[in-house]
Amino acid sequence: MSSDKPKRVRKPPTKKIPMPEQDPAERIKNFEEVALGYTVELAVAEAEKCLQCRNPRCMSGCPVEVPIKEFIELITKRDFMGAAAKIKETNSLPAICGRVCPQESQCEASCIYGIRNEPIAIGRLERFVADYAREHGEGLPEMAPKNGFRVAVVGSGPSGLTCAGDLAKLGYEVTIFEAFHKPGGVLVYGIPQFRLPKDIVQKEVDYLKRMGVELKCDYVIGKIRTIDQLMNEDGYDAVFVGSGAGAPNFLNIPGINLVDVYSANEFLTRVNLMKAYRFPEYDTPIKIGKKVAVIGGGNVAMDASRTALRLGASDVHIVYRRSRKELPARAEEVHHAEEEGVQFQLLTNPVEIIGDEKGNVVGMRCIRMELGEPDESGRRRPVPIPNSDFVIDVNTVVIAVGNSPNPIISQTTPGLEVSKWGGILIDEETGMTSREGIFAGGDIVTGAATVISAMGAGKRAARGIHEYLSKKKK
Ligand SMILES: Cc1cc2nc3c(=O)[nH]c(=O)nc-3n(C[C@H](O)[C@H](O)[C@H](O)COP(=O)(O)OP(=O)(O)OC[C@H]3O[C@@H](n4cnc5c(N)ncnc54)[C@H](O)[C@@H]3O)c2cc1C
Ligand code: SF4
Repeated sequence: MSSDKPKRVRKPPTKKIPMPEQDPAERIKNFEEVALGYTVELAVAEAEKCLQCRNPRCMSGCPVEVPIKEFIELITKRDFMGAAAKIKETNSLPAICGRVCPQESQCEASCIYGIRNEPIAIGRLERFVADYAREHGEGLPEMAPKNGFRVAVVGSGPSGLTCAGDLAKLGYEVTIFEAFHKPGGVLVYGIPQFRLPKDIVQKEVDYLKRMGVELKCDYVIGKIRTIDQLMNEDGYDAVFVGSGAGAPNFLNIPGINLVDVYSANEFLTRVNLMKAYRFPEYDTPIKIGKKVAVIGGGNVAMDASRTALRLGASDVHIVYRRSRKELPARAEEVHHAEEEGVQFQLLTNPVEIIGDEKGNVVGMRCIRMELGEPDESGRRRPVPIPNSDFVIDVNTVVIAVGNSPNPIISQTTPGLEVSKWGGILIDEETGMTSREGIFAGGDIVTGAATVISAMGAGKRAARGIHEYLSKKKK
């Protein structure tokens, strides 16, 4: 029996409005930003797709609970400065988060519109709003009157910057101590210019300075002053440690000490912070072969492989021991690396780096892997396939298999409790360590994680410090 009722035609699923980008063939020859950002018209059109759900789930996916629904609605009304102010209520570095947050596993993962379509491009909208506000002269936030307390912040990565900003707003006198000659932590020495332009990080730092935060660079706490000296002799009432996890992990395989083997940290720091890509204008050269293998599958590995291409390598391989599904890098970075011609050697593990008589790398022996039962991380454990070894023809190897904390703070601060792997132990709620008045957060507590989780930790610690010092009234 046929029915006269017209069939309901469902609209095909929509995709995120694409972000204008540099062409892959062009961009691998330069270090300029790959993604160019939405125009006003693109941003408004993407924002207008938002369902404005009564109970939005996207916010619960964001570690600092950006008021996503509200800022997107302000974009539809073309009130971009209002949208920026709304985001800044909870996120002090939106131009950075809009560029580097793993949105697909955070805010956008919970977007209701994303059940049938691609989710609303929350990260791209956040970036648009932050860039717009920066370019149109943002005012300072409301600042509480000075309360007479002084706080020292160790490290100027996202956790330290966030903690410093929140405390300054509350009336504290804040000094950031940074070991490097430039502030920003991984945002300046790790993440490359083509993903996060350094002038954006500098502008965020300048904004903090305008709020009255003092910054001392080339200042290693644990060498120049200890934390106890800061508190007992220099008059700081509390200290926040946001010193990150900057010491590289290595693999225990033959050939790891050959000349052309870099840690990703050294490789990226030389290029990003010391501007090796602008040698001889900057006096830091970097030696790199035409054929490069990068070991690892996270953001660090993607950054190192794409940097190697831009330095002139013709063959760049990512060597990762699990499958594509388990790659920990942001989806966008994997996509960009593929577009640029990086070759993915998945389910592959290096067993030896082969050198010639002068110690130069001439190849890397690898073994094929298959996935077995899940391990303690919940991911399926890679298991070697017997007799499957083969040699990749490479002459530079970059190791990107994770980082650990530098022990200088724990070694010079008596009574500071650390975990087996050297991470500082804290009270989750307040951020206070085993030492009264000393707080910590970010990668130094969690191990290598994300920018936004480090910022969340900086925020929680600022709240903890405020509570602690408020009880001590000056
Ligand atoms: C190459 C790379 C790419 C990444 N890509 C992404 C990404 O796309 N998205 C994302 O969300 N996350 C990414 N991450 C991770 C993210 O950057 C980190 O989780 C985040 O920066 C941690 O912030 P933090 O404040 O804890 O430490 P850091 O950013 O590491 O900053 C710590 C700072 O403390 C300073 N310091 C250390 N010891 C001392 C001392 N004794 N005295 C004074 N200063 C000291 C250091 O010099 C550094 O500047 C990436 C990391 C790397 C390495
Ligand atoms: S800060 Fe990151 S997770 Fe939060 S809304 Fe912005 S892009 Fe999403």
